[in-house]
Amino acid sequence: MTAFRRVIAAAAGWLAVAIMPALAADLDKATIEKALQAAYTQYKGLQDGANADYIPALAKVDPNLFGIALVTVDGKVYSAGDVTTQVSIQSISKVFTMAMVMDESGVASIEKTMGVDATGQVFNSIVAIEQYKGGEMNALVNPGAITATSMVKGSGYDDIWNRILTTYSEFAGRKLTVLEDVYKSEAETNQRNRAIASLMAAYGRITTDPLRATDIYTRQCSVGVNAKDLAQMAATLANAGKNPVTGKQAMKAENVPETLAVMATAGLYDDSGKWLYHTGLPAKSGVGGGIIAVAPGKFGIAVVSPPLDAAGNSVRAQKAIADISNALGGNPYAVSAQ
Ligand code: GLN
Repeated sequence: MTAFRRVIAAAAGWLAVAIMPALAADLDKATIEKALQAAYTQYKGLQDGANADYIPALAKVDPNLFGIALVTVDGKVYSAGDVTTQVSIQSISKVFTMAMVMDESGVASIEKTMGVDATGQVFNSIVAIEQYKGGEMNALVNPGAITATSMVKGSGYDDIWNRILTTYSEFAGRKLTVLEDVYKSEAETNQRNRAIASLMAAYGRITTDPLRATDIYTRQCSVGVNAKDLAQMAATLANAGKNPVTGKQAMKAENVPETLAVMATAGLYDDSGKWLYHTGLPAKSGVGGGIIAVAPGKFGIAVVSPPLDAAGNSVRAQKAIADISNALGGNPYAVSAQ
């Protein structure tokens, strides 16, 4: 290295140090708290949408439940509203099972087995399976998600299930459990998912017992989480797979970009394009009313509010997350010129 280069390198290092606190300062406590409170106040009274009712237990959840949580990559937790009441994680679980499979079998296994493309169809579409014989879709719609669950390694049902629950718990930073009433209700009414899994097996995508995969999938969807748990799970993705509160590495850092890419492509089902257009954030919704979103390198955010729109995404959660993220500079595509 020439003397000149050394000076430039030193200056660049100094600049990085000088700029970093400025970026962090953008997200100071007061600014974050103000953004959360503003969204909470603005959308608390919003009555649009309706609870999912195709799973009977979900129709009984209080539609007024509304909680917002944000966790920064340096492990600070912010909240507004009810962040302790649990709902079932539902489809948000799909992200973390997909991440497990990526860690165990590599990102290529996901691309090869179910694909990494949007279907343009509802999340439990059978037409989407038929179109490309169970391929050219993704691990965040039901056929791909049940297939991902079938790919989790383990010596049998209990071993697979315990490994899934342990991974989710590491992302959330506490020991999670199943909401048994939701599991029972969904297990009694999941004929469509059983059909989807059987079709995926017929196309050779699921190579283990498809009904066992459906049952483990149903159990993973019934895990209870509150807004704070979900925000910590999102923040772990924002922080290269390392839970910023507990310091535990919950997934391999190298597989986080692919995880976020699938979320950006298909996290809000057939409304994923609209969502990305307005926020730029990889996100995932669940019919229990939760949505997580990830501002890479900055923060994870989650909202729980059960009433859903026609695409199956929480109405209040979409609005609150979009406002908060945009107020905090969360959109990774929005940069200033150098
Ligand atoms: N367990 C639900 C199902 O399979 C999850 C769907 C969702 O959250 N969109 O139907």
